[in-house]
Amino acid sequence: VKFVYDFTEGNKDLKDLLGGKGANLAEMTNLGLPVPPGFAITTEACKVYLDSGEEPAALRDEVSAHLDALERKMGKKLGQADDPLLVSVRSGAKFSMPGMMDTVLNIGLSDKSVQGLAKQAGDERFAWDSYRRLIQMFGKTVLGVDGELFEDALDKAKETKKVTVDTELDAADLKKLVTKFKKIVKTEAGRDFPQDPREQMDLAIKAVFDSWNGERAKLYRRQERIPHDLGTAVNVCSMVFGNLGPDSGTGVAFTRDPASGHQGVYGDYLQNAQGEDVVAGIRNTVPLAELEQIDKKSYDQLMQIMETLENHYKDLCDIEFTIERGQLWMLQTRVGKRTAGAAFRIATQLVDQGLIDEAEALQRVTGAQLAQLMFPRFDEHAKVEQVARGIAASPGAAVGKAVFDSYTAVKWSRSGEKVILVRRETNPDDLDGMIAAEGILTSRGGKTSHAAVVARGMGKTCVCGAEELEVDTKRRRMTVPGGHVVEEGDVISIDGSTGKVYLGEVPVVPSPVVEYFEGRMHAGADDADELVEAVHRIMAFADRKRRLRVRANADNAEDALRARRFGAQGIGLCRTEHMFLGDRRELVERLILADTEAEREESLKQLLPLQKKDFVELFEAMDGLPVTVRLLDPPLHEFLPDITELSVRVALAESRQEPHENELRLLQAVHRLHEQNPMLGLRGVRLGLVVPGLFTMQVRAIAEAAAERKAAKGDPRAEIMIPLVGTVQELEIVREEADQVIEEVQAATGTQLKLAIGTMIELPRAALTAGQIAEAAEFFSFGTNDLTQTVWGFSRDDVEASFFTAYLEKGIFGVSPFETIDKDGVGSLVKAAAQAGRATRPDLKLGVCGEHGGDPESVHFFHEVGLDYVSCSPFRIPVARLEAGRAAS
Ligand code: PEP
Ligand code: MG
Repeated sequence: VKFVYDFTEGNKDLKDLLGGKGANLAEMTNLGLPVPPGFAITTEACKVYLDSGEEPAALRDEVSAHLDALERKMGKKLGQADDPLLVSVRSGAKFSMPGMMDTVLNIGLSDKSVQGLAKQAGDERFAWDSYRRLIQMFGKTVLGVDGELFEDALDKAKETKKVTVDTELDAADLKKLVTKFKKIVKTEAGRDFPQDPREQMDLAIKAVFDSWNGERAKLYRRQERIPHDLGTAVNVCSMVFGNLGPDSGTGVAFTRDPASGHQGVYGDYLQNAQGEDVVAGIRNTVPLAELEQIDKKSYDQLMQIMETLENHYKDLCDIEFTIERGQLWMLQTRVGKRTAGAAFRIATQLVDQGLIDEAEALQRVTGAQLAQLMFPRFDEHAKVEQVARGIAASPGAAVGKAVFDSYTAVKWSRSGEKVILVRRETNPDDLDGMIAAEGILTSRGGKTSHAAVVARGMGKTCVCGAEELEVDTKRRRMTVPGGHVVEEGDVISIDGSTGKVYLGEVPVVPSPVVEYFEGRMHAGADDADELVEAVHRIMAFADRKRRLRVRANADNAEDALRARRFGAQGIGLCRTEHMFLGDRRELVERLILADTEAEREESLKQLLPLQKKDFVELFEAMDGLPVTVRLLDPPLHEFLPDITELSVRVALAESRQEPHENELRLLQAVHRLHEQNPMLGLRGVRLGLVVPGLFTMQVRAIAEAAAERKAAKGDPRAEIMIPLVGTVQELEIVREEADQVIEEVQAATGTQLKLAIGTMIELPRAALTAGQIAEAAEFFSFGTNDLTQTVWGFSRDDVEASFFTAYLEKGIFGVSPFETIDKDGVGSLVKAAAQAGRATRPDLKLGVCGEHGGDPESVHFFHEVGLDYVSCSPFRIPVARLEAGRAAS
């Protein structure tokens, strides 16, 4: 294998091997652009070193050969006493890891060659300053000396001289500083600063390899989900100097504005300076446009190069350059980072310029960027007082008065107040309050807690699991770290994209993209927002490309209509338990408490027309599109009062000798139905099988609603879905009963109803026996929430708030498996079940309705395994459409 590539040998497609920086330096070299000559040591060499603790045997010779070639090209030798070649040694991984790894500049300087450099440059001060920088950087990054010691010595030198900036130190001062720095190295590292230039270079290369496993770098990779085994390349590049006088300088440039996407001259320039000076902000930079006055020749050349790079990379590039005594040098380029809005604009601009096609444009944007554009956000220039940080559960920016119960939330919002509902955790009782609130803040629970799931469904901002907050709902207040108390009515702001909680009102800016999806802003109008225009076009590209259909998880007409506006092609999951709350809870309570058949039938009879009305509305809102109605799923005790509260009530009534028969009866039922582990208890199809008449009532409501819609000349397309099936027998029994009810309704109404019956696949056993289950199911919808819960054995309500942070920190997974599908585990079951199901029934329709249906990475996976549709909350539909389009192009 070859471990070293001259810049003339590589190209931009070799990022795996040469890292991003090395590959792009090679590309620019081969484009004939002025790149200081040099070579790159591959990531392979780094991997060998990291695995074995030793550099590959061939590396030293290869480096020597490339160094020889470089020296010949430059006409001088590394560290040569009278005219030294100096090099930089820089890290450069496949993915940019800004500031995470090491760089050493000015390698080749020594007590001798510093004199040669001074003579050649005609600048004593410059030479000694370069030498002091080398010892400082080398001491810190290669020899592990505490950087503060150098900084302190530098400060002291300035103090002694009574000056404030480095540039006021002259050659003599810097010479003294070099002596001091060398002493620091000797004391701290226990060795002299190496005078042999090759030794300097070799040690620096090794240090760059080692920096791959530095703590900062590891943490960064975990956060950014960059694999740990890629290794870094090392670039050895001949030095050019921007600090050789007023005809020198250094700068950064963008081929377009990374914030707006507009073409123009964007960047900064700093005269008589080196790269670090720009970053360190020692002096103020000037706008790049001013370079035209300073050095017209270099400016014109730079503009020419920028055009070459844009046309070559067909994308926004960012550039680092240096001018050494009127000669322009390119030090780096890469496809530049940009804001979410600019990504959409640039992609469409490049299509218009004929540089890329629609499929490529889709690769230039992401669902995450679209999601970012859809949420209102806090003004980033605002002054803020952050008091806590929880889990970013549902993005957006919300401001309002803190309230600690649902009742107050509703009352205050009715009188026109904006409120944030603060709870320890939420439950179905809080629904009204959640709807009324601008945002929801909880101190407990993770990304699939009730608060998080419901808030995401509503597109409402939510921060959950902010454990530093002490929420005291009884006294209507919370205590933030440091002891400050937020009382009911105090204004707070929460950021659901970062999980941050602020005191007071942080100003919010609304999203034009949502206005567009809602139909309140139009593309194509004369004064249309540029961003909206770009989003509109990209969505059209995605819709043309995608194979996956996108449906919504919605349980009421309002959500269904919004989903339609957002582009939903049906409802993939209507959770009927959401229809049993509010006023109807009492009816459900009576159903559960029924002692006799007659009592039970009576409450079912009362529920039927209410359910039917729900479905009529829903089918009307989704007319002509499929609506998958799931029969009741969650444990019955969720509809009953809290066991502790009720016990207290009963005990109180007893002690006061007040009548409490009803309460007592309720308490007994609650005890009877109480489960230690309700997620694995009496729910889903099990409920349908043990509570007679419950599922058939629901099926009847669906069938009658469909018949009514047909009579009204509508086009209802209902599908009936059975939850939590583990074996085909369960499904067969429910199916038989359902078929019978449907037939009865057909006969009674004289209507022909085509009601598909299918099941959720959300238990491992269902996935493993999918071939059998498909015998009784016309469709499968993967419930990846429960499937993740049961495959991992992770309680979806508990784990995210308890130990997931530790798991993420340890890198066990880079993202919660409740958020992004675990391809290897849960995903492989989905894939196998899809295949087995289709083997039994080739026209089996396949979808997914867990939270993963709206997650970008998961959407790609579902595309690959051949599902027909994904279903997600209304607000995530545009993201799913976009990602489905990206997956197919
Ligand atoms: C699921 O389990 O993935 C699902 C969609 O059902 P629920 O979240 O209602 O349990
Ligand atoms: Mg489920």
